[in-house]
Amino acid sequence: MTDKRTFPGPVACGLMKEAECYCATTTVGSRIHVARREGALVEDYDGFMFIDFHCDASVNNLGGNHPVINEVIERQARSGNIFSEHHNAPNLAAVELSKMLVEKSPVRKPAKAYLANSGTEANETATKISMAARRKSQQYDKKKVIYFKNSFHGRTLGVIAGTNSKPEVQRDPFWDHCDQENVVYLPYPRRGTNFRLYEEYFKDMNPALIDRMFIELPCQGEGGIIPADDRSVQYLFEACRENDIFVVVDAIQCGMGRAGSLFGCERYSWLGLQPDMITLGKALGGGLPIGAVIFRAELDFKKKGMHSSTFGGGPMVARLGLAVIKEIEALISKGQVQKLEIALGAHLHQLQKKFPAIVFETRGIGAMWAHEIVDQETRDLIIRKAEELVETEEYGLRLLSAGKKAIRFMPPLTIGEEMQNRGFGLYEKVLSSL
Ligand code: PLP
Repeated sequence: MTDKRTFPGPVACGLMKEAECYCATTTVGSRIHVARREGALVEDYDGFMFIDFHCDASVNNLGGNHPVINEVIERQARSGNIFSEHHNAPNLAAVELSKMLVEKSPVRKPAKAYLANSGTEANETATKISMAARRKSQQYDKKKVIYFKNSFHGRTLGVIAGTNSKPEVQRDPFWDHCDQENVVYLPYPRRGTNFRLYEEYFKDMNPALIDRMFIELPCQGEGGIIPADDRSVQYLFEACRENDIFVVVDAIQCGMGRAGSLFGCERYSWLGLQPDMITLGKALGGGLPIGAVIFRAELDFKKKGMHSSTFGGGPMVARLGLAVIKEIEALISKGQVQKLEIALGAHLHQLQKKFPAIVFETRGIGAMWAHEIVDQETRDLIIRKAEELVETEEYGLRLLSAGKKAIRFMPPLTIGEEMQNRGFGLYEKVLSSL
């Protein structure tokens, strides 16, 4: 393509204006308004095509227009039962999905699963499960929660104190309504952290008052793609076990193959460490809203009615969950995610070497990687320029920010080598132009 076209195009410009007028102020940051998808490509309403290294923050892990996903949706729609209330009268798909999540997950057994509608709701549910379990065992003093600095666990009031990757906008305007007294923030155990740091923290707090620890594993997502230090995680799990603190692993972004395995945190069970709960969301629904908590059965709600939701575990989304797990497992066992990990790491390390004044750090795990950029302004400029490449090239590049000045690289797990190379070629073009 040689003709210069202006991005964003007329439809996108109109859409942005209308959205400003009629849609709530949220996180809008991208100018790529997706109309269609095919594999690792997205097309906007003006017909501009982009290589997708964004994946809607790790929702579209299987890429666009996936035949299995389409088939599940069509088959369920043809059954005439798009929805029926699972939490009122369990449906076959939701029970099968709950069983599959329980059996495959590294949560200590026996375990159960609760199906929700979003990652946030999964974390809210994990919070309620902890609270109810403490009440059931009459541990009324155990009320405090350990969260890690820079984490993201959702935006509703039960977990908002744990969402502090950009505290000034995400948390602070609502801080007055948070249970501030019961929140303990620790630094995230990033790779290279000396685990003894946490010995000090545990000495300084009264662990008997701590109910639960929420931790994104094996990597913080929104906070900047910060992989965790295994030895420190091991220390934290053990300290929690010793002090009867529930470990809740938030695998909402890292799960479903993104960090290399189905639940992201299997690596810790290989070390003999098992969480009390794991929360999932995003990619598990194959594009439809979903959340899930897998928890030790012993912690289950004591009475019917203490928790539920209308839409959680509907038959369509549950069927999709089953299909997604099967597809992701196949990709993992074919070695596709491992190959992607090597390729993403190699490309990004090489580009850091080539542009040391722009790129300060390369880090990642599985198929979630980041470049730490010299400053926020340059980071934002890179993302804009990557989009605008579509004016002169066949494709632009769809990127996602993370943390204060990082760029996330999270292509679909199904992306082929050619698209990876073309995507990194575009990224290099942008870096060279600065
Ligand atoms: N936890 C993590 C680690 C996330 O990345 C997110 C979303 O980005 C959430 C929780 C919240 O999930 P949702 O946006 O589906 O409510």
